[in-house]
Amino acid sequence: MASLDTLKQALLDKATTATASSSPGRPLTDAEYSHGFEILASAHGWARYHASVTPHLSELLTPLFDSRLRISVLEIAPDPKTILGSLPFPLKRKITRYNALVPNGLLAASLQECFSTADSPGPLPCLERPPAISRIAFGEAPDFRTCTDSDGDATTTTTTTTVDSNKKFDLILLYNHGLYGPTPNPNPDRALLQRALELLVEPNGLLVVLHREGLSLDGLVARRTVVLPSDGVFRATAAEWRNVCRALGGSSRRKEDRALVFRAPGMVLASFTRQAATALGELTAKVPPLLRRTEKPPPVVKNAEARLRCPAAIVRPTETWQMQECVRWALRHGVGLTVVGGGHSGHCLWPHVVAVDMGGWQGALLVKLGDEGEGGEGGEEEGGSGLRAHAFAASTTGDLVRTAMRSKLAVPLGARPSVGAGSWLQGGIGHLARLHGLSCDAVVGVKVVSLASGEIRSVGSLPGACQSVETDAESPSDSDLLWALKGAGPNFGILTDVGFKTYPAPTYLIRKWLVPLGDGIEVRRRLRDVGKLVVLELPRNCSADVCLYCHGDRLRLGVTMLETSTDKRSVETTSTASASMSAILGPQTSCTTVDGVGVFDTEMYVSEMQHGGGKTSSFKRSLFLKHLGEVDNNIADVLVAAIEARPTPLCYLHLAQGGGAVGDVSADATAFGCRDWDFACTIAGVWPRSQERLEIAQTTVDWVYKVAEELLPLSSGAYSADLGPDPRDAALAARAFGSNLSRLARLKREADPRNVLRYACPLPKAPMEPKLIVLVTGESGAGKDYCADVWACILTKQGFKARAVSISEATKREYAAATGADVGRLLRDRAYKEQHRPSLAAFWESQVQQRPRLPEEHFLNVVYAATDVTVLFITGMRDEAPVTAFSHLVPDSRLLDVRVQISEGASRTSQTDGTSGPIGGDSKESSATPAPAVDSDYRPSLVFHNDTAGDDAPIAFANKHLLPFLDSDLQRLADMVRSIPDFPRPGIEFRHVLDIAQHPSGLSLCTHLLERHFFSGHCHDVDKVVCCEAGGFVFAAALAPSLGASLVLIREAGKLPPPTVSVDISPSHISAASAASGSRPRKRAIEMDRDAVPWDASVLVVDDVLATGRTLCAVLRLLGEAGVAAENVSVMVVAEFPVHHGRVLLRRSGFGGVSVQSLLVFGGA
Ligand SMILES: Cc1cc2nc3c(=O)[nH]c(=O)nc-3n(C[C@H](O)[C@H](O)[C@H](O)COP(=O)(O)OP(=O)(O)OC[C@H]3O[C@@H](n4cnc5c(N)ncnc54)[C@H](O)[C@@H]3O)c2cc1C
Repeated sequence: MASLDTLKQALLDKATTATASSSPGRPLTDAEYSHGFEILASAHGWARYHASVTPHLSELLTPLFDSRLRISVLEIAPDPKTILGSLPFPLKRKITRYNALVPNGLLAASLQECFSTADSPGPLPCLERPPAISRIAFGEAPDFRTCTDSDGDATTTTTTTTVDSNKKFDLILLYNHGLYGPTPNPNPDRALLQRALELLVEPNGLLVVLHREGLSLDGLVARRTVVLPSDGVFRATAAEWRNVCRALGGSSRRKEDRALVFRAPGMVLASFTRQAATALGELTAKVPPLLRRTEKPPPVVKNAEARLRCPAAIVRPTETWQMQECVRWALRHGVGLTVVGGGHSGHCLWPHVVAVDMGGWQGALLVKLGDEGEGGEGGEEEGGSGLRAHAFAASTTGDLVRTAMRSKLAVPLGARPSVGAGSWLQGGIGHLARLHGLSCDAVVGVKVVSLASGEIRSVGSLPGACQSVETDAESPSDSDLLWALKGAGPNFGILTDVGFKTYPAPTYLIRKWLVPLGDGIEVRRRLRDVGKLVVLELPRNCSADVCLYCHGDRLRLGVTMLETSTDKRSVETTSTASASMSAILGPQTSCTTVDGVGVFDTEMYVSEMQHGGGKTSSFKRSLFLKHLGEVDNNIADVLVAAIEARPTPLCYLHLAQGGGAVGDVSADATAFGCRDWDFACTIAGVWPRSQERLEIAQTTVDWVYKVAEELLPLSSGAYSADLGPDPRDAALAARAFGSNLSRLARLKREADPRNVLRYACPLPKAPMEPKLIVLVTGESGAGKDYCADVWACILTKQGFKARAVSISEATKREYAAATGADVGRLLRDRAYKEQHRPSLAAFWESQVQQRPRLPEEHFLNVVYAATDVTVLFITGMRDEAPVTAFSHLVPDSRLLDVRVQISEGASRTSQTDGTSGPIGGDSKESSATPAPAVDSDYRPSLVFHNDTAGDDAPIAFANKHLLPFLDSDLQRLADMVRSIPDFPRPGIEFRHVLDIAQHPSGLSLCTHLLERHFFSGHCHDVDKVVCCEAGGFVFAAALAPSLGASLVLIREAGKLPPPTVSVDISPSHISAASAASGSRPRKRAIEMDRDAVPWDASVLVVDDVLATGRTLCAVLRLLGEAGVAAENVSVMVVAEFPVHHGRVLLRRSGFGGVSVQSLLVFGGA
């Protein structure tokens, strides 16, 4: 197979020799050019290319499209079937203006034709005027404003138009496939990119560049970059090219399949805003750049993939304030960062992203216990040494092992000396793991730069100098952050220091067996025998490494058994397993005794495998396996088939033994959630470094992924340490943290709200929470669980994914663990539960005293564990005003509470007959927490009277009151509201709710929905619709006639004739934010006609937005001034922004009893 580069060069050569030997370097003619495109596009070429790029492009474009009602696009050098036509309809319908600059007349004609097809709406059906397609020469630093509408090529029939030079574009897509221009040099010129950036509409206009992997864009900083792996092969069938290409491409031997095949290169999709793209200078003025261009990555970057990537820059902070500046710079510009620790992963460098090299934080030392900070645990260390190891971020495993050994100590670390902090932050599997656990288990304290603010945070116990800073309520607690850093660290902060427990340094007795293998049957048998033996017979102080590799042209099984002892004399006598191993593998090949440093050189990879003398590059993925030794699974078969299909003789499979102390730690004690495995199996694809850019490197990577894919269903999880944003890692990442994934997703949102570390192992995205969360509350015995189950069932029948869960389960489990109570009976046996009720309640209260945020944690854990459902019913909540207390935690979901009430008589019936029907009793209802006091100053969203026998009443209730919240028209309305990032100042995502009124059908849809929701929540008429200028006027004026009510207008003081009543109002958060960026917020008063609302009128207040609640509080106070009682008032708003705690202010101001309904909820401002 050949690359596109070689194909292009060959075509140029042919064109040169065939037609103009006198003018070498002649650019391809339009015909040659288009022909090349056609061949690559033939068969499934475009379809496949569009299918692989479109999902990523859609994701990149969504924030921009959400912030605009209309989008104008300029495509530079698009393919003749513009990829924009493949976008999902909700995106492409916003494209109203389309311009293209095309390098070649024939391609321009094809593009024009694609828009002019008479019998179809074309790729962009909502264009307001015909597309403007112009031809431009790319070879000579083009100026977009001077391109002409004549292509000058007699063969084309294209009608072209000049790009309007005065116009700017919301979106510019620049394709740099490397096919343009007379030379194979594919780097887009910085001047061209600069010109494209200047044509963007400000703010937030987006330039998206699609180019081949490995290109530098000369220090431009991307907002986001997606690397699309090479997607297999293109098949070229044009007969006249065969001769040219035969020497270059691989050709199928099968007669019926005579085609030349070319591998498509890996692609990079990078998005830039004008402001962030050129912001590098601002950072490098403060933090020294190690390297601007990345032709030669620094030696610390050892990973082959990473070395091929061109970051915007690599900076090396040496002072703490410089570290902080890196994060603050990223936050200011909305860009991501990567971090270089030991440089062994593929994700420490990323195209067009600034990498922070931790080289300024070298060294490791031992500190005395008692020198830790306030969080220090004090007390004795495992080995009684009184010392802990303290490593700075650039220390390697070798540094730390050597430092600890100087005091005859050890830290459980990985097996290779050059591996860095990435290993400790993500697990750290080494020879001491069975005895002392993983590296992350030995971590006692960590110092990080917070990704939310750039502040330094110390969590756990570290020497006194590293004290924690105050954190705001939205940041994870210290215990949560330490929990997350122990296993998923690269997502949660930039680590500068870490403290480890130490253990007495052991001596290692290393025994090896090297067994040449015959056929597959023998390999399978041996693997199973060894797998069974080590799991059954090895004590904790022993661990085995098993390697399947090639020696010469023969397969070999290498087994290393490491036996540790802190008593040198006994080391050779402790294990009988070696005799058993010799019984199945024959005599051992070698036996040596080494210390913690010497053990590095005994690694099978280092000591036995042949590399032909040259340097190698590798690509690895690791999965956790159990039951290798058993015949009733086919793990051994997959391993054998994998090694037999190895693309290079250097590839190998490595099995590192687990069990022992690894499994002693419960899966939810740290973020490292995969604990139940016998072996960590590393699939190592290795190739000679001299072939870095050749096909074999890519084929080897494909092999690793293929084997990982086959093993994944047979595995008990994947190791996160090597995983990143490559789409092929997604399936592995989903299995990397066991049941901790949902908690991690929640903590990521808190710890890294702007996703600064966005290129680490992917966690599920935040907006995966359910759309509708219903808290089912009420007295004990009211039938909450029964109703929740019925509602979940009826909504499931209607086609929604719904589930009912009890929030008190976690408390019951913790209570059972602490007291020895039977958790099964606590969850299911009502009488047993009643018996424990008082002590359960006391247990909960003491827990909340120690961890005041525990109710929130439990709530979020339940929500994030249900990211697969659309509607979640939660029972067992005991908070007085749950929607007020929790809605800000799930700002993208609608949170409702339904109070289930039961009359005295009905309650007695249910209790006396002791069944769950006809009036549903609570079978699993919580008694973990005290029942809530009835709160006269809080009004639940809905009340259900559970007084009627059977399911009919709850079903009717769900249909009437719950289904309207799932109406697809609500989403249609939400889609009309633009979100504008960083307006009116950075960090605020502004939602322009009044867009609804500007949309052709917006106001009528909104009015219809307001009316419908009002009647589903109220059974009375409205006399007066009250509204406040300006947003309220728009929506209320449309609604009032349909409710048969008259309108009452509230205006700023001084605009209504007397007599009026008035109250002061403080500025909204948006006015305050504008003031922060310049103008002063005015304190103002609002007024209404004193006699406009009779005292006994039924009043509906309608407003556009509920955010901080200040305006609404002022309106309710004003109505009070006019003599209207709060119980006669209800409120409807078009959009609610729960993050601003508006309901909390209403309740504090005495309006908690007022019914407040909102049509839409948004997470932004
Ligand atoms: C030859 C080889 C041998 C290996 N042996 C073992 C082994 O025995 N046991 C084992 O468990 N694993 C092993 N691994 C896997 C190894 O743990 C991972 O590749 C790990 O990610 C490497 O960490 P690093 O710091 O060297 O690499 P890097 O690429 O520098 O970092 C890896 C990740 O951690 C992040 N990171 C690094 N430093 C910081 C920091 N200070 N703050 C925040 N994030 C940071 C990076 O951004 C990146 O996402 C091995 C890998 C190789 C290549």
